[in-house]
Amino acid sequence: MAFQTADTSAAKPSGANPGHANSWYAASARDKRIRPSLEGETEADICVIGAGFTRISAALELAERGYSVVVLEAERIGFGASGRNGGQIVNGYSRDLETIASCYGRERAVKLGEMSLEGGEIIRQRVATYGISCDLVQGGFFAAFTDKQMREMAQSKAEWEKHGHSGLAMVSQDEVSRYVKSDRYIGGMIDTLGGHIHPLDLVLGEAAAVESLGGRIFEGSRVTGIEQAERPVVRTAAGSVRASYVLACGNAYMAPLLPEVHGRMMPVSSQVMATEPLDADLIESLLPANYCIEDANYILDYYRRTADNRLLYGGGIGYGGHDPKDLTSAIRPNMLKTFPQLKDVRIDYAWSGNFALTLTRIPHMGRLSDKVYFSHGDSGHGVTTTHLLGKILGEVVAGHAERFDVWASLPNLPFPGGRHFRVPLTALGAWWYGLRDKLGL
Ligand SMILES: Cc1cc2nc3c(=O)[nH]c(=O)nc-3n(C[C@H](O)[C@H](O)[C@H](O)COP(=O)(O)OP(=O)(O)OC[C@H]3O[C@@H](n4cnc5c(N)ncnc54)[C@H](O)[C@@H]3O)c2cc1C
Repeated sequence: MAFQTADTSAAKPSGANPGHANSWYAASARDKRIRPSLEGETEADICVIGAGFTRISAALELAERGYSVVVLEAERIGFGASGRNGGQIVNGYSRDLETIASCYGRERAVKLGEMSLEGGEIIRQRVATYGISCDLVQGGFFAAFTDKQMREMAQSKAEWEKHGHSGLAMVSQDEVSRYVKSDRYIGGMIDTLGGHIHPLDLVLGEAAAVESLGGRIFEGSRVTGIEQAERPVVRTAAGSVRASYVLACGNAYMAPLLPEVHGRMMPVSSQVMATEPLDADLIESLLPANYCIEDANYILDYYRRTADNRLLYGGGIGYGGHDPKDLTSAIRPNMLKTFPQLKDVRIDYAWSGNFALTLTRIPHMGRLSDKVYFSHGDSGHGVTTTHLLGKILGEVVAGHAERFDVWASLPNLPFPGGRHFRVPLTALGAWWYGLRDKLGL
C-alpha cells in the first residue's frame, strides 16, 4: 500500500529560527541546531514519522528499551502543534470521564481514568531524568464564569478523585485573586498536578534525549509514502528507511498520508500571542501564583506567564484549520476583557497552529497493518495525552498491547457532512455551544 502526503508548505519560515512558525517559542528556544535531512537508504527497528510530542514520546520510550529508532520530520522538530501550543499541562482528556462512560461504557472509562494522570507524570519524569530546561512550573486554574460551570467542575473533581487525583480544590469567588487578578470569574478549580512549560524546549529536549540513546532524527524529510511489506519501507524525496515497525502520527499536519484516518480527523487552528516582557510587579499582580489559566467556555481562552515575564494569551478557533487574517486583532480583545489594564501593552508575537479534532474529542489510535500504527486527534488537550499515547505506542511495538487495545477498541466515527459540509456543520455546533456559554445556559 502506498500513501500520499499532505502539503504543509503554507507555514512561513521565520528569521528567528528558520523553518518554525514565527513564535515567541521559536525565538526563545534554547536548542536551535538544525538536523540533517535523510539521504539514501537506511534501516532501523522503528521508523517514526513526524517529530511532535506523540512520536518523540514513542521514540524515547523505544530508545530507552534498546530499539534502534529513526525519526523523519517534514520540517523541524516541534514544527507542528507541539512547538506552538499554550504550554499548558492539563490532565485528562477533552471529554470528562462521565461523558466517556456514557459513550464507551463504564469499564473503558475506568481504564482510561486509570491512565489519565500519567501524561503529566511522564513529562515531569523526563524533565528530571534528562535535565530538560523547559521552564516547568507546577499548577493550573480552571476559571468559571457561571454557576453551571462551577457545578460541572465540582462533578468532575468528584469523578477525578475516584481515580486517585488528590491535587484538585474548588476556589470560591473571594479566592480567585490568588490565581488571577480579573473580575470576570465567579470561581473555579485548581489542579496542583497541572502546570506549564515552554513546549518547544520540551520537545527539543526530548529529541536530544532520543539522540543521546542512539536514535537518529532527520529534519526536512517529508515522508511521501509507506510501502507495506514484511519490513515496511518509508520513503522521502531523497531517501528511504526500511523498518520492522512504522509509527505514523502526523496529527493535523499529515492526514492525506493516511486516507484511512483522514475523514475521522479535522484540523482546527488556535491562535496565540505574547506581549512584550512586562514589569515583574505587574505580571505578578495579574497571575500571583504563576499557575496557567484556562476558562470553562466551549471556545476557551488560555493564558499564562512566561519565564521572561510576558503574558502568553491564546484562544479562538478555526475549524478546518482556517485562521483570521490578523491574529493579534482576533485575540487581543479577549485579553483586554480579562485584563483591561494591559491596553497599552505591545504585542511582540502572534502565531497559530493546528491541532487534530475527532468527532468524539477522544484520540484515535489503531493499526493500519500489523507493522504500521497510528495515533492522532488529541482534540486540543494534547500536551499530556500525546505523552501518554506515545508511551503506549512504544509499549505495543515492544509486545505489550494491553493498553493500546483499550484505545484501539474505541469507535471513532467520521465527521458527518463529508468533505464539503463537515467544517460548516462542526462550526455550527460550536456556535451553538458558544451561544449557550454567552447566555449562561
Ligand atoms: C495553538 C495551539 C495551542 C494549544 N495549546 C495547548 C495547551 O496549552 N495544552 C494542551 O494540552 N494542548 C494544547 N494544544 C494541543 C497540542 O499542542 C497538540 O494536541 C499536540 O501538540 C499534538 O502533538 P502531535 O505530536 O500529535 O502533533 P504535532 O505536534 O502537530 O506534530 C506533527 C508533526 O508531524 C510532521 N509531519 C506531518 N506530515 C509529515 C510527513 N508526511 N512526513 C514527516 N513529518 C510529517 C509535522 O511537520 C509535525 O511536526 C494546542 C494546539 C495548538 C495548535
